[in-house]
Amino acid sequence: MDFNLTREQELVRKMMRSFTENEVEPIAAETDRTSEYPAETIDKLFRYGVMGMVVPKEYGGAGADDVCGAIAIEEISKACASTGDIVATHNGLCCGPIMKHGTPEQKAKYLPMLTSGHVGAFALTEPNAGSDASKGTTTAVLDGDHYVLNGSKIFITNGYVADIFVVFAMTDPSKGTKGISAFIVEKDFPGFSVGKHEEKMGLHGSPTAEIVFTDCIVPKENLLGVAGKGFSIAMQTLDGGRIGIAAQALGIAEGAMAKAMEFTKSRVQFGKPISKFQNTQFKFADMQVAITAGQYLTYAAAAKKGEGKRFTLDAAMAKLFTSENAMKITTECLQMFGGYGYTKDYPIERMMRDAKITEIYEGTSEVQRIVISGNIL
Ligand SMILES: Cc1cc2nc3c(=O)[nH]c(=O)nc-3n(C[C@H](O)[C@H](O)[C@H](O)COP(=O)(O)OP(=O)(O)OC[C@H]3O[C@@H](n4cnc5c(N)ncnc54)[C@H](O)[C@@H]3O)c2cc1C
Repeated sequence: MDFNLTREQELVRKMMRSFTENEVEPIAAETDRTSEYPAETIDKLFRYGVMGMVVPKEYGGAGADDVCGAIAIEEISKACASTGDIVATHNGLCCGPIMKHGTPEQKAKYLPMLTSGHVGAFALTEPNAGSDASKGTTTAVLDGDHYVLNGSKIFITNGYVADIFVVFAMTDPSKGTKGISAFIVEKDFPGFSVGKHEEKMGLHGSPTAEIVFTDCIVPKENLLGVAGKGFSIAMQTLDGGRIGIAAQALGIAEGAMAKAMEFTKSRVQFGKPISKFQNTQFKFADMQVAITAGQYLTYAAAAKKGEGKRFTLDAAMAKLFTSENAMKITTECLQMFGGYGYTKDYPIERMMRDAKITEIYEGTSEVQRIVISGNIL
């Protein structure tokens, strides 16, 4: 097993670190305050080839490997988890399933769009179907040369900015999970609309919305993969997406730790910087161990995915470990800031709010434990 990053992976880290410092960090606090989608940053990420990074070059992507994809999200999320989330969703949850399950025609049509400015989304969750995603009630009925979709999806990342959605709907309710199919839906298809925009605890720059299908007309050729295989496509996609969330959680933890180290070196109490207290030092030591272990888990899962090996267990372990550590580390770091940490003068409270979602979406921590135990028992 090779634990070293390749030259290309190191280069991606360097490039993304510089991009984050120059373009993401300066507007992160304002993005959180205003809850505005960082449109200009995302446009630049399209131009830099980060949106659609793992898409093959023949479709306009950067053709990067999955470890590069994870590193890009990690670096961006050090400064702004919202931007990291927008990229992770676009790359992992929209480009991903189209690359894997799309017909040559679907790939030729949608992947160049997804690498040249059209934002992607993934719509699985419904009001009564969250952790148990099999209980969705959105239907898709074949009517001649098109499907007619009815129902709604909630909590959809990129929901009110995306142009292209991978959507899951029941084509045969009598067959349970084997009656679910996946579709590529464009926002301009008749009967598609965006509903409620969510106001959230954190991740304010990431646009989360309900999407609604009212006799929505989807051409037959936009069925993604085989009819009835949608649930399997959703689960496979989430396996990949979890590597992106693990990378996002890593980035949040690393960003918080860097801010806390800076603060504790300059904050003097009892006559010395609080970084000189062993209590502080030991906490940083534990954080570094958790971050490094999380990197190994995350990059190993990404590498396995890239090699075409089964990586369900690896992705679940990476997501569980890094997200719970992101929550722990941001909480500890905020504590080191004392009262200042509780104010909006410092980014640490935002990082703690942003960290929480990593334990919830793309499968809660409890769901990851179900996946992990199910794979080992
Ligand atoms: C900001 C945000 C962005 C999102 N983006 C997307 C997106 O782009 N696309 C999309 O499709 N969805 C998205 N989601 C939905 C997200 O994936 C779900 O919220 C998540 O999977 C949990 O589902 P739920 O909210 O219905 O909670 P529930 O499933 O109702 O769970 C509630 C609690 O019960 C626990 N629980 C449930 N079942 C079990 C069990 N068997 N054993 C033990 N505990 C259990 C859960 O772990 C959780 O703690 C997003 C959500 C948020 C908040």
